[in-house]
Amino acid sequence: MWDLFPAHASPALIRIKAEHGLIVNLSATKEWMMTSLALRKSQLETRLTALTNRLGAIETELQSHDEKDWEELATAREGDEVLESIGVGSQAEMRAIKAALQRIEVGEYGACVRCGAEISEARLDLLPFTPFCKDCA
Ligand SMILES: [Zn+2]
Repeated sequence: MWDLFPAHASPALIRIKAEHGLIVNLSATKEWMMTSLALRKSQLETRLTALTNRLGAIETELQSHDEKDWEELATAREGDEVLESIGVGSQAEMRAIKAALQRIEVGEYGACVRCGAEISEARLDLLPFTPFCKDCA
């Protein structure tokens, strides 16, 4: 099966081939697509859990600063700004990941939401939550 579907063959490409009768072994095709998608899904879920934990840790850290006196607070505030910006970045990524998980559910994952082109596996390896192909990003 892995010989039939090399690592660079994406589910979207295989779906197109299957639709045009270029792939005969459809059950193997479906199985491979599910494996590939399940892998992406678990990558996304793992990342989402990590981000959720990080955000929780940041919130705990920020709250602990509420009890400091004025001088300590001035120093802590600089660190807080860094923490807050990390938190904002995490929230944005979490939203993107949740959207990607939804696209997996409806079978639209791996296709660019702007132009419909197939997003390359290499790009999805780097940015598994991206909704755009490299031309639309
Ligand atoms: Zn595109």
